[in-house]
Amino acid sequence: MGDATFNVGDVQVTRIEEAYGPTFPLDMMFVGFSQDIVDDHGGGAEFSKFYEVDTGMVLCSIHSWLVRTPQSVVLIDTCCGNGKDRPAMPTMHQLDTPFIDRLAAAGVAPEDVDYVVCTHLHVDHVGWNTHLVDGEWVPTFPNATYVMNSTEFDFWKPGNPASAAIEINAGVFEDSVLPAFDRDQVDLWDGDREIDGVLHLETATGHTPGHAVAWLESKGERAVFAGDSMHSPMQVYEPSLGCAFDIDAAAATAARRGLLETCVERGALLLPAHFASPHAWNVVQKGDGLAPVAAG
Ligand SMILES: [Zn+2]
Repeated sequence: MGDATFNVGDVQVTRIEEAYGPTFPLDMMFVGFSQDIVDDHGGGAEFSKFYEVDTGMVLCSIHSWLVRTPQSVVLIDTCCGNGKDRPAMPTMHQLDTPFIDRLAAAGVAPEDVDYVVCTHLHVDHVGWNTHLVDGEWVPTFPNATYVMNSTEFDFWKPGNPASAAIEINAGVFEDSVLPAFDRDQVDLWDGDREIDGVLHLETATGHTPGHAVAWLESKGERAVFAGDSMHSPMQVYEPSLGCAFDIDAAAATAARRGLLETCVERGALLLPAHFASPHAWNVVQKGDGLAPVAAG
């Protein structure tokens, strides 16, 4: 599960990939990483799809989740986008990927998208919000409402000294958020936000100050679009293992732990933004802790 369209109740879910491959060394991406974590939970074979065993590089997917409710077409996160100037992030700089063709192959044209949900406003979650037309960044999805958390939006606004120094996001608000806002296509939310009675957005902060997750429930079946709450199944075993890109590590750990425990309670499928294949997991209780079980 996770590579083809699957159903959660009456809702269809399809993963739309932008990029896939090695990213950063394990001990750079995960704060406090030690080989013991791998060895304690099944060894390299268990995690070999998530890092290259010979180089120690973490494998990541960058994808959107296309969600078709009975009423609406929803795109959760929009990857890096094409043609964006990202000098601080070479693997995201001036991309030219067939992302829109892949969306079309799933049966969706840009004008069909009703909602774009940004779990947060990092560079690799908002890129396809806009595309270049005659030298101007304009919304890629002309009929969509772009749904963003207001704390997150305020944090990344130019002029905030707390975000100005974060190099990986330089220019991102201006070219990928502001054009939609200027056309009144951005819907900011506080507290929580419902879409079609089946998607429930709430914050799970720490990775960023307004980071959100989207719980899906339909016909008694459940899933959670977990954004960047976690980047590897190792963090299901060890929720205290932080990502180097978490802005508030303690809050991110608490959010990750809470999210995973709620997945167990609700029997919800875990659908993060970057897990390498397989992309969809169940979370189960194992002894005193938790364990990931590939869904399929
Ligand atoms: Zn990300």
